[in-house]
Amino acid sequence: MPKQSAVVPETIGAVVAAATPLPKPTRVFSFPPPRQPTREGRLTQLELGGGGGAARANAWVDSMRASSPTHARAAAVAAATAADGEHAAWLVKHPSALDKFEQIISASQGKQIVMFLDYDGTLSPIVDDPDAAFMSDAMRAAVKKVAKCFPTAIVSGRCRDKVFNFVKLAELYYAGSHGMDIEGPAKASKHAKKGKRVLFQPASEFLPMINEVYQALLEKAKSVPGAKVENNKFCVSVHFRCVDEKSWKLLAEQVNSVLREYPKLTPTQGRKVLEIRPTIKWDKGKALEFLLESLGFADSVDVLPIYIGDDRTDEDAFKVLRERGQGIGILVSKSPKETNASYSLQEPAEVMELLLSLVKWKQQMLKAHSRG
Ligand SMILES: [Mg+2]
Repeated sequence: MPKQSAVVPETIGAVVAAATPLPKPTRVFSFPPPRQPTREGRLTQLELGGGGGAARANAWVDSMRASSPTHARAAAVAAATAADGEHAAWLVKHPSALDKFEQIISASQGKQIVMFLDYDGTLSPIVDDPDAAFMSDAMRAAVKKVAKCFPTAIVSGRCRDKVFNFVKLAELYYAGSHGMDIEGPAKASKHAKKGKRVLFQPASEFLPMINEVYQALLEKAKSVPGAKVENNKFCVSVHFRCVDEKSWKLLAEQVNSVLREYPKLTPTQGRKVLEIRPTIKWDKGKALEFLLESLGFADSVDVLPIYIGDDRTDEDAFKVLRERGQGIGILVSKSPKETNASYSLQEPAEVMELLLSLVKWKQQMLKAHSRG
């Protein structure tokens, strides 16, 4: 086993250890990032090749359905899985981070915790209008307290400015556009390296192309009631939270017709959103590694990254933690999902509870230390 072993519930740890020896943490990203997505990268991408336009659009609709169940279907699925015990079995593999708080704390002994937080569905509820995905004041206060105790980054698919306007905390690191737009704290922070302002945009050459595609998609989406196109600077999001399921195929065809002209862009699937991104191998996992290096923890064994997220795109970060054999991935989900995360939380309210528990624990530690 490597020096620092994965902090995962025992059952998964055993499976992982048996299947693949955990590599020592290394700097695995390169500058500039390679253009070709890896095999793993392709797994979350929608299939573009073969089958002709209609077949391709149908495949997309299947994928949209699979990753975006309606509330009614999600409830039916949850009831069914609870009935056959699948959910319970899943919770054994991915226990609640609140129930296993002591385990998390003991893993952090002698290590610097670094917090990575997704925004939508993690700090804010998923709502119909993506522009109205506000976080509560209580959640903002909790994140502020966490950032006082540990270096903290928000890692989101949204454009950095937009996610900053939701969170409004200048002391955090922000990685927008799925990590393709990273900036360090605007406000002086005890965690930031002195005199070194972080700014990293690995896909800047794609900006004109992204703007062009945004305009084209905006025009095309007009024919699909409820569709909303969002320019996230280094990627474009086509939200279908408010699109009737009957129109999903039409929307997929419209998006497909635009993307045919842009082979350097690729669609990926999120929760009720299609995201169009440059085909560079840069994702939330790479952003996590970049930020760890920026904080001076590139090859350190004295760091415990904790990443909390709810989306497929967060899996890239969970996977990095698992491969490094270092850190804790926590998936926010009410129902069983295939995931590389070790622990789970049900909803943003539980995320807040965990954040506040970490703050309380850290404050107690500091008090005990100052007394001792
Ligand atoms: Mg999310």
